[in-house]
Amino acid sequence: MTAPDIPPGTGTTLVELRCHACGSPHPLTASYACPACFGPLEPHYDYAKAGAALTRDAIAARPLNLWRYRELLPITGAPQTGFVSGWTPLIRADRLAARLGLDEVYVKDDSVNRPSLSYKDRVVSVALTRAIELGFTTVGCASTGNLANSVAAHAARLGLRAVVFIPADLEAAKIIGSAIYGPDVIAIRGTYDDVNRLCAEVADRYGWGLVNVNLRAYYAEGAKTMAFEIAEQLGWRFPRHLVCPVAGGTLLPRMARGFRELGELGLVAGDPPVLHAAQAAGCAPVVGALHAGLDFPDPVRPHTIARSIAIGNPADGFQVLEVVRASGGWGDAATDDEIRAGMALLAETEGIFTEPAGGTTVAVTRKLVEQGRLRPGGGPVVLAITGNGYKTAEAVAESAGPTVTLGRSFREFEQWHEQAT
Ligand SMILES: *Cc1c(COP(=O)(O)O)cnc(C)c1O
Ligand SMILES: [Zn+2]
Repeated sequence: MTAPDIPPGTGTTLVELRCHACGSPHPLTASYACPACFGPLEPHYDYAKAGAALTRDAIAARPLNLWRYRELLPITGAPQTGFVSGWTPLIRADRLAARLGLDEVYVKDDSVNRPSLSYKDRVVSVALTRAIELGFTTVGCASTGNLANSVAAHAARLGLRAVVFIPADLEAAKIIGSAIYGPDVIAIRGTYDDVNRLCAEVADRYGWGLVNVNLRAYYAEGAKTMAFEIAEQLGWRFPRHLVCPVAGGTLLPRMARGFRELGELGLVAGDPPVLHAAQAAGCAPVVGALHAGLDFPDPVRPHTIARSIAIGNPADGFQVLEVVRASGGWGDAATDDEIRAGMALLAETEGIFTEPAGGTTVAVTRKLVEQGRLRPGGGPVVLAITGNGYKTAEAVAESAGPTVTLGRSFREFEQWHEQAT
């Protein structure tokens, strides 16, 4: 196995888990809710030690994967997986910017994250490394598709048994894209929220390491690496705005935490970005709560083509509301037609085929421009593109342009060409 190039003697900086709500400390076990107040637990680090190790030069000398920030990730030993995960492209998107009426737009392209083509390769690299440290031999997840793909792929390489739970009616490529790695794929007749409830019981009863259930405190931290990379790829600067899709509410609050940590460690100066949440109109509990001024989202029953972000009862929805409001940001929801148009726009302008979650980000960015919240001269805007369109081709099977089908003769082609031009 390729050993990551970590300087010897760096050691772990992980200290304890702490409750996000009441601050009480907890041991570094597979638990995710505070016994005192049920608040979410999150890792706490020795920041002085992390800061001493994580200079810009030290980071620059490390391999181009998500472990280059390992002192801010919740493991105690060596990374076990994820050596090709992270460090996805940050692309300056001038043609997209022109179409949106903006002047400085970047796409953070996790549609080509490896090995399973979504942002979930970040959280799974961290969660499964921690799962091995905690002694789990069976791992799994409750998933809307991409997480199951990633858990199955990483577990195969690690030789761990995997059991992944998904709603039964997911896109075909999302189901096959798990099954090919040989896990037990448990397809539940119900919504993601039904799957998630079942998995909480399974984790308790069988003692398995379910990455977004009992390992959630560790899993969520992997999402910070998307923020670390954006800042490093911008030359150790913060963008002015970030637009990010929201499902269970893991990614957006952890990116906020990542930006904050970079500021506190002195790696980046200036104000952290204004954060905007993007949801599908057919499943927008967080955006609904944002617009209504609520602290907690009201659960909804999802109905949208954006299956990967169709979570009606988001575990960390209140954290999204917290960080969006604290940053002075906003959020909006896009209809299925607007999502398809967003997918097409990104493909036609930048050559990136994203899934409906990415189309949602593009569509909501357009709305934020219409509302005057994003404008030219307002500083760099980063769009979080989190998944790959080849997994969800059926979402645009009707709306993508038609194919010209001809016979084999040159004459037929010539006739087509004459009437087409
Ligand atoms: C999981 C996922 C997200 C975000 O989900 P969170 O639970 O909010 O972190 C966004 N896009 C895609 C494609 C995903 O698979
Ligand atoms: Zn608590």
